[in-house]
Amino acid sequence: MSCVKDNELDRMRSEVLEITKEILRLVAKRQSLCAEIGKLKQSKGLSIEDPSAERILREAITKEALALGIEEDFAQRLTTQLIEECIKVQPKPPEKKVLTHRDIARMAEALERQGVRVIRMDVGEPDFRAPSVVVERAYQEMKAGRSRYTEPKGKQELRQAIADYVKMRFDADVKADQVIATMGGAFGVYLALASTVSPGDEVIVIDPSWPIYKSCVRYVGGRPIVLETRLEDGWEPNLDELNEKISAATKAIIMNYPSNPTGKALGKKTFKGIVEIAQDRKLTLISDEVYADYNFTGSEHNTVLNYPEVSYVLISSFSKSWGMTGFRVGFVISDLDRANKMAAIQSMLITCIPEFIQYAAIEALKCLDEAKKNSEVMRERAEAVCKALEPLPVSFYKPDGAMYVFPRIDVKGIDGSEFAVKLLENKNVSVAPGGAFGNYFNYFRMSLGQPKEVLVEGVKRIGEFLSTLS
Ligand code: PMP
Repeated sequence: MSCVKDNELDRMRSEVLEITKEILRLVAKRQSLCAEIGKLKQSKGLSIEDPSAERILREAITKEALALGIEEDFAQRLTTQLIEECIKVQPKPPEKKVLTHRDIARMAEALERQGVRVIRMDVGEPDFRAPSVVVERAYQEMKAGRSRYTEPKGKQELRQAIADYVKMRFDADVKADQVIATMGGAFGVYLALASTVSPGDEVIVIDPSWPIYKSCVRYVGGRPIVLETRLEDGWEPNLDELNEKISAATKAIIMNYPSNPTGKALGKKTFKGIVEIAQDRKLTLISDEVYADYNFTGSEHNTVLNYPEVSYVLISSFSKSWGMTGFRVGFVISDLDRANKMAAIQSMLITCIPEFIQYAAIEALKCLDEAKKNSEVMRERAEAVCKALEPLPVSFYKPDGAMYVFPRIDVKGIDGSEFAVKLLENKNVSVAPGGAFGNYFNYFRMSLGQPKEVLVEGVKRIGEFLSTLS
Protein backbone atom coordinates (compact mmCIF):
# COMPACT_ATOMS: atom_id res chain seq x y z
CA MET A 1 0.00 0.00 0.00
CA SER A 2 2.70 2.53 1.08
CA CYS A 3 4.75 1.47 -1.97
CA VAL A 4 1.86 2.48 -4.25
CA LYS A 5 1.61 5.80 -2.43
CA ASP A 6 5.35 6.43 -2.82
CA ASN A 7 5.04 5.77 -6.54
CA GLU A 8 2.19 8.22 -6.68
CA LEU A 9 4.31 10.84 -4.87
CA ASP A 10 7.24 10.27 -7.24
CA ARG A 11 4.95 10.57 -10.24
CA MET A 12 3.52 13.87 -9.01
CA ARG A 13 6.95 15.22 -8.15
CA SER A 14 8.26 14.48 -11.59
CA GLU A 15 5.21 16.18 -13.06
CA VAL A 16 6.00 19.26 -10.95
CA LEU A 17 9.57 19.08 -12.24
CA GLU A 18 8.37 18.92 -15.86
CA ILE A 19 6.01 21.86 -15.30
CA THR A 20 8.85 23.88 -13.75
CA LYS A 21 11.07 23.10 -16.74
CA GLU A 22 8.25 24.05 -19.08
CA ILE A 23 7.89 27.39 -17.24
CA LEU A 24 11.63 27.99 -17.69
CA ARG A 25 11.42 27.12 -21.40
CA LEU A 26 8.60 29.65 -21.73
CA VAL A 27 10.68 32.24 -19.86
CA ALA A 28 13.58 31.64 -22.27
CA LYS A 29 11.21 32.08 -25.22
CA ARG A 30 9.82 35.27 -23.65
CA GLN A 31 13.35 36.59 -23.10
CA SER A 32 14.42 36.10 -26.70
CA LEU A 33 11.22 37.79 -27.88
CA CYS A 34 11.95 40.69 -25.51
CA ALA A 35 15.46 41.01 -26.96
CA GLU A 36 13.91 41.25 -30.46
CA ILE A 37 11.42 43.86 -29.24
CA GLY A 38 14.34 45.77 -27.72
CA LYS A 39 16.19 45.86 -31.06
CA LEU A 40 13.07 47.04 -32.84
CA LYS A 41 12.46 49.76 -30.26
CA GLN A 42 16.09 50.86 -30.57
CA SER A 43 15.80 51.12 -34.35
CA LYS A 44 12.66 53.25 -33.94
CA GLY A 45 14.28 55.40 -31.23
CA LEU A 46 11.72 54.29 -28.61
CA SER A 47 12.56 54.09 -24.92
CA ILE A 48 13.03 50.72 -23.22
CA GLU A 49 10.38 51.09 -20.56
CA ASP A 50 6.86 51.41 -21.89
CA PRO A 51 4.28 52.11 -19.16
CA SER A 52 1.29 51.65 -21.47
CA ALA A 53 2.48 48.20 -22.62
CA GLU A 54 3.04 47.29 -18.96
CA ARG A 55 -0.45 48.47 -18.06
CA ILE A 56 -2.05 46.27 -20.74
CA LEU A 57 0.03 43.31 -19.57
CA ARG A 58 -0.87 43.83 -15.91
CA GLU A 59 -4.58 44.18 -16.61
CA ALA A 60 -4.53 40.92 -18.55
CA ILE A 61 -2.59 39.22 -15.74
CA THR A 62 -5.12 40.33 -13.13
CA LYS A 63 -7.93 38.80 -15.19
CA GLU A 64 -6.00 35.60 -15.85
CA ALA A 65 -5.06 35.22 -12.19
CA LEU A 66 -8.69 35.62 -11.23
CA ALA A 67 -9.79 33.06 -13.81
CA LEU A 68 -7.13 30.56 -12.68
CA GLY A 69 -7.74 31.08 -8.97
CA ILE A 70 -4.18 32.37 -8.40
CA GLU A 71 -3.62 35.12 -5.87
CA GLU A 72 -3.44 38.42 -7.79
CA ASP A 73 -0.62 39.82 -5.68
CA PHE A 74 1.55 36.81 -6.45
CA ALA A 75 0.76 37.02 -10.17
CA GLN A 76 1.64 40.71 -10.26
CA ARG A 77 4.90 40.22 -8.37
CA LEU A 78 5.89 37.46 -10.78
CA THR A 79 5.01 39.79 -13.65
CA THR A 80 7.32 42.48 -12.23
CA GLN A 81 10.18 39.97 -12.22
CA LEU A 82 9.44 39.06 -15.84
CA ILE A 83 9.25 42.73 -16.85
CA GLU A 84 12.58 43.45 -15.17
CA GLU A 85 14.25 40.47 -16.83
CA CYS A 86 12.83 41.64 -20.14
CA ILE A 87 14.29 45.13 -19.59
CA LYS A 88 17.69 43.56 -18.81
CA VAL A 89 17.99 41.89 -22.23
CA GLN A 90 17.08 45.00 -24.23
CA PRO A 91 19.91 47.06 -25.73
CA LYS A 92 20.56 50.20 -23.71
CA PRO A 93 22.22 53.51 -24.49
CA PRO A 94 25.63 53.83 -22.77
CA GLU A 95 25.14 54.58 -19.06
CA LYS A 96 25.92 58.10 -17.90
CA LYS A 97 28.54 58.16 -15.18
CA VAL A 98 26.70 59.70 -12.26
CA LEU A 99 28.66 60.90 -9.26
CA THR A 100 26.93 61.16 -5.89
CA HIS A 101 27.49 63.61 -3.06
CA ARG A 102 29.53 60.87 -1.38
CA ASP A 103 31.94 60.73 -4.35
CA ILE A 104 32.37 64.50 -4.22
CA ALA A 105 32.75 64.38 -0.42
CA ARG A 106 35.55 61.81 -0.80
CA MET A 107 37.33 64.05 -3.30
CA ALA A 108 36.84 67.06 -1.01
CA GLU A 109 38.26 65.12 1.94
CA ALA A 110 41.31 64.12 -0.13
CA LEU A 111 41.92 67.80 -0.87
CA GLU A 112 41.46 68.69 2.80
CA ARG A 113 44.07 66.09 3.76
CA GLN A 114 46.48 67.98 1.51
CA GLY A 115 45.73 71.13 3.55
CA VAL A 116 43.30 72.75 1.08
CA ARG A 117 40.38 74.57 2.71
CA VAL A 118 37.24 73.42 0.93
CA ILE A 119 33.83 75.07 1.24
CA ARG A 120 31.74 72.00 1.93
CA MET A 121 28.21 72.08 0.57
CA ASP A 122 28.08 68.40 -0.42
CA VAL A 123 26.75 66.36 2.49
CA GLY A 124 23.36 67.04 4.07
CA GLU A 125 24.56 67.44 7.63
CA PRO A 126 23.79 70.51 9.75
CA ASP A 127 26.80 72.05 11.50
CA PHE A 128 24.75 72.58 14.70
CA ARG A 129 25.93 70.88 17.89
CA ALA A 130 23.49 68.85 19.94
CA PRO A 131 22.07 70.92 22.83
CA SER A 132 24.46 70.72 25.79
CA VAL A 133 21.74 69.29 28.06
CA VAL A 134 21.31 66.44 25.58
CA VAL A 135 25.02 65.63 25.65
CA GLU A 136 25.04 65.89 29.44
CA ARG A 137 22.03 63.57 29.78
CA ALA A 138 23.61 60.91 27.55
CA TYR A 139 26.81 61.12 29.63
CA GLN A 140 25.04 60.95 32.98
CA GLU A 141 22.86 58.03 31.93
CA MET A 142 25.84 56.15 30.59
CA LYS A 143 27.70 56.76 33.85
CA ALA A 144 24.68 55.50 35.76
CA GLY A 145 24.86 52.22 33.84
CA ARG A 146 21.98 52.86 31.45
CA SER A 147 23.76 51.09 28.66
CA ARG A 148 21.64 47.93 28.52
CA TYR A 149 19.29 46.39 26.00
CA THR A 150 15.81 47.86 25.98
CA GLU A 151 12.67 46.60 24.32
CA PRO A 152 13.05 46.72 20.51
CA LYS A 153 10.63 49.62 20.04
CA GLY A 154 12.56 51.63 22.61
CA LYS A 155 11.80 52.56 26.20
CA GLN A 156 8.18 53.31 27.02
CA GLU A 157 9.29 56.64 28.49
CA LEU A 158 10.80 57.79 25.19
CA ARG A 159 7.92 56.52 23.09
CA GLN A 160 5.41 58.27 25.35
CA ALA A 161 7.50 61.46 25.14
CA ILE A 162 7.39 61.21 21.32
CA ALA A 163 3.62 60.59 21.38
CA ASP A 164 3.17 63.65 23.63
CA TYR A 165 5.46 65.68 21.37
CA VAL A 166 3.49 64.92 18.19
CA LYS A 167 0.25 65.68 20.05
CA MET A 168 1.59 69.06 21.11
CA ARG A 169 3.32 69.84 17.80
CA PHE A 170 0.80 68.48 15.25
CA ASP A 171 -2.29 67.72 17.33
CA ALA A 172 -1.83 64.09 16.30
CA ASP A 173 -3.30 61.31 18.42
CA VAL A 174 -0.76 58.55 18.63
CA LYS A 175 -0.26 55.84 21.24
CA ALA A 176 3.23 55.07 22.54
CA ASP A 177 2.92 51.53 21.11
CA GLN A 178 2.72 52.95 17.59
CA VAL A 179 6.13 54.60 18.00
CA ILE A 180 9.52 52.96 17.41
CA ALA A 181 12.81 54.66 18.21
CA THR A 182 15.10 53.87 15.26
CA MET A 183 18.74 54.19 14.28
CA GLY A 184 18.16 57.57 12.63
CA GLY A 185 15.61 58.36 9.95
CA ALA A 186 17.68 56.24 7.55
CA PHE A 187 16.87 53.02 9.40
CA GLY A 188 13.27 54.21 9.61
CA VAL A 189 13.17 54.24 5.80
CA TYR A 190 14.42 50.67 5.76
CA LEU A 191 11.89 49.50 8.36
CA ALA A 192 9.04 51.20 6.51
CA LEU A 193 9.96 49.57 3.21
CA ALA A 194 10.94 46.17 4.60
CA SER A 195 7.57 45.92 6.39
CA THR A 196 5.57 46.99 3.31
CA VAL A 197 7.30 45.63 0.22
CA SER A 198 7.70 42.05 -0.99
CA PRO A 199 9.97 41.16 -3.92
CA GLY A 200 8.22 42.24 -7.13
CA ASP A 201 6.12 44.98 -5.54
CA GLU A 202 6.37 48.50 -6.92
CA VAL A 203 6.92 51.67 -4.94
CA ILE A 204 6.33 55.19 -6.28
CA VAL A 205 9.25 57.53 -5.59
CA ILE A 206 8.79 61.24 -6.24
CA ASP A 207 11.90 62.65 -7.91
CA PRO A 208 14.19 64.47 -7.43
CA SER A 209 14.67 62.43 -4.27
CA TRP A 210 17.13 61.38 -1.62
CA PRO A 211 18.95 58.50 -3.42
CA ILE A 212 18.49 56.08 -0.52
CA TYR A 213 14.79 55.61 -1.34
CA LYS A 214 15.42 53.94 -4.68
CA SER A 215 18.36 51.88 -3.38
CA CYS A 216 16.35 50.76 -0.39
CA VAL A 217 13.32 49.79 -2.51
CA ARG A 218 15.70 47.69 -4.64
CA TYR A 219 17.38 46.25 -1.55
CA VAL A 220 14.09 44.83 -0.27
CA GLY A 221 13.38 43.36 -3.74
CA GLY A 222 10.95 46.02 -4.94
CA ARG A 223 10.88 48.08 -8.11
CA PRO A 224 11.01 51.86 -7.78
CA ILE A 225 8.68 53.69 -10.17
CA VAL A 226 9.62 57.31 -10.54
CA LEU A 227 7.21 60.22 -10.66
CA GLU A 228 9.25 63.15 -11.92
CA THR A 229 8.52 66.68 -10.80
CA ARG A 230 9.81 69.81 -12.52
CA LEU A 231 11.34 73.11 -11.52
CA GLU A 232 8.95 74.81 -14.00
CA ASP A 233 6.01 73.50 -11.93
CA GLY A 234 7.58 74.69 -8.66
CA TRP A 235 8.43 71.02 -7.97
CA GLU A 236 4.71 70.37 -7.46
CA PRO A 237 3.80 66.69 -8.04
CA ASN A 238 1.11 66.26 -10.69
CA LEU A 239 -1.60 64.08 -9.17
CA ASP A 240 -2.92 62.81 -12.52
CA GLU A 241 0.58 61.64 -13.37
CA LEU A 242 0.82 60.04 -9.93
CA ASN A 243 -2.40 58.13 -10.53
CA GLU A 244 -1.08 56.89 -13.86
CA LYS A 245 2.12 55.58 -12.31
CA ILE A 246 0.21 53.33 -9.91
CA SER A 247 -0.16 49.76 -11.16
CA ALA A 248 -1.66 46.56 -9.80
CA ALA A 249 1.78 45.84 -8.32
CA THR A 250 2.14 49.15 -6.44
CA LYS A 251 2.23 48.86 -2.66
CA ALA A 252 3.48 52.24 -1.46
CA ILE A 253 4.26 55.86 -2.23
CA ILE A 254 7.31 57.33 -0.57
CA MET A 255 7.45 61.09 -0.25
CA ASN A 256 9.63 63.64 1.50
CA TYR A 257 8.44 67.16 2.23
CA PRO A 258 10.13 69.53 2.95
CA SER A 259 12.25 67.91 0.28
CA ASN A 260 15.84 66.90 0.01
CA PRO A 261 17.07 68.19 -2.49
CA THR A 262 14.55 70.81 -3.71
CA GLY A 263 13.44 72.48 -0.45
CA LYS A 264 9.85 72.19 -1.66
CA ALA A 265 7.09 71.83 0.96
CA LEU A 266 3.61 70.77 -0.12
CA GLY A 267 0.54 72.89 0.43
CA LYS A 268 -2.37 71.27 2.20
CA LYS A 269 -4.36 70.66 -1.00
CA THR A 270 -1.65 68.63 -2.74
CA PHE A 271 -0.69 66.83 0.47
CA LYS A 272 -4.32 65.83 1.00
CA GLY A 273 -4.60 64.88 -2.68
CA ILE A 274 -1.73 62.39 -2.30
CA VAL A 275 -3.26 61.00 0.88
CA GLU A 276 -6.56 60.47 -0.95
CA ILE A 277 -4.87 58.71 -3.85
CA ALA A 278 -3.02 56.41 -1.45
CA GLN A 279 -6.26 55.66 0.34
CA ASP A 280 -8.28 55.07 -2.87
CA ARG A 281 -5.63 52.79 -4.33
CA LYS A 282 -5.02 50.99 -1.02
CA LEU A 283 -1.37 51.98 -0.78
CA THR A 284 0.83 52.74 2.18
CA LEU A 285 1.99 56.34 2.30
CA ILE A 286 5.54 56.50 3.62
CA SER A 287 6.15 60.12 4.59
CA ASP A 288 9.71 61.13 5.41
CA GLU A 289 9.35 64.29 7.45
CA VAL A 290 12.84 64.60 8.89
CA TYR A 291 12.90 68.27 7.83
CA ALA A 292 9.54 69.14 9.45
CA ASP A 293 11.20 71.68 11.74
CA TYR A 294 13.11 73.43 8.96
CA ASN A 295 10.01 75.16 7.67
CA PHE A 296 10.32 78.72 6.36
CA THR A 297 6.80 79.17 5.03
CA GLY A 298 5.22 80.53 8.19
CA SER A 299 2.37 78.05 7.75
CA GLU A 300 1.98 74.76 9.59
CA HIS A 301 3.95 71.73 8.47
CA ASN A 302 1.71 69.20 6.72
CA THR A 303 2.10 65.79 8.30
CA VAL A 304 0.74 62.38 7.45
CA LEU A 305 -0.03 61.99 11.18
CA ASN A 306 -3.09 64.18 10.62
CA TYR A 307 -4.50 61.55 8.24
CA PRO A 308 -4.76 58.37 10.32
CA GLU A 309 -7.41 57.06 7.89
CA VAL A 310 -4.66 56.19 5.37
CA SER A 311 -2.18 53.34 5.83
CA TYR A 312 0.97 55.29 6.65
CA VAL A 313 4.46 55.29 8.07
CA LEU A 314 5.84 58.58 9.38
CA ILE A 315 9.63 58.87 9.42
CA SER A 316 11.28 61.44 11.63
CA SER A 317 14.68 62.12 13.12
CA PHE A 318 16.58 63.97 15.80
CA SER A 319 19.47 64.50 13.36
CA LYS A 320 18.35 67.72 11.71
CA SER A 321 16.18 69.64 14.20
CA TRP A 322 18.70 69.28 17.03
CA GLY A 323 21.97 68.71 15.14
CA MET A 324 22.22 65.15 16.46
CA THR A 325 23.35 63.28 13.32
CA GLY A 326 25.98 61.17 15.11
CA PHE A 327 23.62 60.14 17.90
CA ARG A 328 21.83 58.03 15.28
CA VAL A 329 18.34 58.42 16.63
CA GLY A 330 15.05 58.92 14.85
CA PHE A 331 11.58 57.43 15.03
CA VAL A 332 8.79 55.94 12.97
CA ILE A 333 5.08 56.00 13.71
CA SER A 334 2.48 53.76 12.10
CA ASP A 335 -0.63 51.73 12.94
CA LEU A 336 -0.08 49.17 15.66
CA ASP A 337 0.15 46.14 13.33
CA ARG A 338 2.82 47.65 11.12
CA ALA A 339 4.64 49.11 14.15
CA ASN A 340 4.83 45.58 15.58
CA LYS A 341 6.10 44.26 12.25
CA MET A 342 8.78 46.95 12.09
CA ALA A 343 9.73 46.29 15.72
CA ALA A 344 10.22 42.60 14.89
CA ILE A 345 12.61 43.56 12.05
CA GLN A 346 14.47 46.02 14.28
CA SER A 347 14.72 43.37 17.00
CA MET A 348 16.16 40.85 14.55
CA LEU A 349 18.74 43.27 13.13
CA ILE A 350 19.91 45.57 15.91
CA THR A 351 17.89 44.56 19.02
CA CYS A 352 17.30 48.21 19.93
CA ILE A 353 19.10 51.55 19.87
CA PRO A 354 21.46 52.31 22.78
CA GLU A 355 19.70 53.01 26.07
CA PHE A 356 21.58 56.23 26.96
CA ILE A 357 20.87 57.62 23.49
CA GLN A 358 17.18 57.08 24.16
CA TYR A 359 17.48 59.28 27.26
CA ALA A 360 19.33 61.89 25.21
CA ALA A 361 16.39 61.88 22.78
CA ILE A 362 13.95 62.43 25.66
CA GLU A 363 16.02 65.46 26.66
CA ALA A 364 16.07 66.81 23.09
CA LEU A 365 12.27 66.78 23.01
CA LYS A 366 12.37 69.34 25.81
CA CYS A 367 14.66 71.65 23.80
CA LEU A 368 12.01 73.07 21.51
CA ASP A 369 13.58 76.54 21.48
CA GLU A 370 16.83 75.08 20.18
CA ALA A 371 15.00 73.41 17.27
CA LYS A 372 13.25 76.70 16.51
CA LYS A 373 16.54 78.58 16.62
CA ASN A 374 18.17 76.08 14.25
CA SER A 375 15.26 76.44 11.85
CA GLU A 376 15.60 80.23 11.90
CA VAL A 377 19.33 79.94 11.15
CA MET A 378 18.54 77.67 8.17
CA ARG A 379 15.92 80.13 6.92
CA GLU A 380 18.46 82.99 7.05
CA ARG A 381 21.03 80.88 5.23
CA ALA A 382 18.54 79.93 2.51
CA GLU A 383 17.61 83.58 2.12
CA ALA A 384 21.26 84.69 1.83
CA VAL A 385 22.20 81.92 -0.60
CA CYS A 386 19.20 82.60 -2.85
CA LYS A 387 20.01 86.30 -2.90
CA ALA A 388 23.63 85.55 -3.85
CA LEU A 389 22.49 83.11 -6.56
CA GLU A 390 20.09 85.60 -8.13
CA PRO A 391 22.52 87.23 -10.63
CA LEU A 392 24.11 83.91 -11.67
CA PRO A 393 23.17 81.91 -14.80
CA VAL A 394 21.14 79.41 -12.78
CA SER A 395 17.41 78.86 -12.14
CA PHE A 396 16.15 77.67 -8.81
CA TYR A 397 13.16 77.33 -6.50
CA LYS A 398 13.43 79.34 -3.33
CA PRO A 399 13.18 76.68 -0.63
CA ASP A 400 10.12 76.47 1.62
CA GLY A 401 12.10 74.36 4.04
CA ALA A 402 14.79 71.66 4.52
CA MET A 403 18.44 72.65 4.16
CA TYR A 404 19.19 72.71 0.45
CA VAL A 405 19.03 74.79 -2.68
CA PHE A 406 18.84 72.86 -5.97
CA PRO A 407 19.77 75.14 -8.88
CA ARG A 408 19.71 74.27 -12.57
CA ILE A 409 22.83 75.31 -14.48
CA ASP A 410 21.66 77.48 -17.36
CA VAL A 411 24.90 77.09 -19.27
CA LYS A 412 24.72 74.72 -22.24
CA GLY A 413 26.86 71.62 -22.48
CA ILE A 414 27.83 70.98 -18.85
CA ASP A 415 26.31 68.34 -16.64
CA GLY A 416 26.10 68.32 -12.86
CA SER A 417 28.79 65.67 -12.26
CA GLU A 418 31.34 67.40 -14.47
CA PHE A 419 30.37 70.73 -12.93
CA ALA A 420 30.80 69.45 -9.36
CA VAL A 421 34.25 67.96 -10.07
CA LYS A 422 35.56 71.02 -11.91
CA LEU A 423 34.11 73.39 -9.33
CA LEU A 424 35.91 71.46 -6.62
CA GLU A 425 39.19 71.38 -8.53
CA ASN A 426 39.09 75.01 -9.65
CA LYS A 427 37.37 76.78 -6.76
CA ASN A 428 37.56 74.36 -3.84
CA VAL A 429 33.79 74.34 -3.41
CA SER A 430 32.02 70.99 -3.10
CA VAL A 431 28.38 70.51 -4.14
CA ALA A 432 26.30 67.40 -4.89
CA PRO A 433 25.69 66.59 -8.58
CA GLY A 434 22.01 66.64 -9.57
CA GLY A 435 22.10 63.27 -11.35
CA ALA A 436 22.29 61.51 -7.97
CA PHE A 437 18.70 62.62 -7.26
CA GLY A 438 17.17 61.39 -10.52
CA ASN A 439 17.05 62.59 -14.08
CA TYR A 440 18.38 66.07 -13.21
CA PHE A 441 21.83 66.01 -14.77
CA ASN A 442 22.19 69.76 -15.22
CA TYR A 443 21.38 70.53 -11.59
CA PHE A 444 23.45 70.60 -8.42
CA ARG A 445 22.50 70.56 -4.76
CA MET A 446 23.94 72.98 -2.23
CA SER A 447 23.67 71.94 1.38
CA LEU A 448 23.21 74.75 3.92
CA GLY A 449 25.13 73.06 6.73
CA GLN A 450 27.71 75.86 7.01
CA PRO A 451 27.68 79.41 8.45
CA LYS A 452 26.01 81.99 6.21
CA GLU A 453 29.25 83.83 5.35
CA VAL A 454 30.91 80.61 4.22
CA LEU A 455 27.92 79.73 2.02
CA VAL A 456 27.84 83.19 0.44
CA GLU A 457 31.57 82.92 -0.29
CA GLY A 458 30.84 79.52 -1.86
CA VAL A 459 28.17 81.03 -4.11
CA LYS A 460 30.56 83.82 -5.11
CA ARG A 461 33.10 81.22 -6.22
CA ILE A 462 30.38 79.28 -8.07
CA GLY A 463 29.57 82.52 -9.92
CA GLU A 464 33.23 83.00 -10.83
CA PHE A 465 33.44 79.43 -12.08
CA LEU A 466 30.22 79.70 -14.10
CA SER A 467 31.52 82.85 -15.79
CA THR A 468 34.45 80.84 -17.16
CA LEU A 469 31.98 78.44 -18.81
CA SER A 470 29.60 80.77 -20.61
N1 PMP B 1 15.59 61.47 5.09
C1 PMP B 1 16.14 62.46 4.37
C2 PMP B 1 15.32 63.11 3.32
C3 PMP B 1 17.46 62.85 4.57
O1 PMP B 1 17.97 63.82 3.82
C4 PMP B 1 18.21 62.20 5.57
C5 PMP B 1 19.66 62.56 5.82
N2 PMP B 1 20.35 63.06 4.78
C6 PMP B 1 17.58 61.20 6.33
C7 PMP B 1 16.29 60.85 6.06
C8 PMP B 1 18.28 60.41 7.38
O2 PMP B 1 18.88 61.11 8.36
P1 PMP B 1 19.23 60.38 9.74
O3 PMP B 1 19.40 58.93 9.46
O4 PMP B 1 20.49 61.01 10.20
O5 PMP B 1 18.07 60.65 10.63
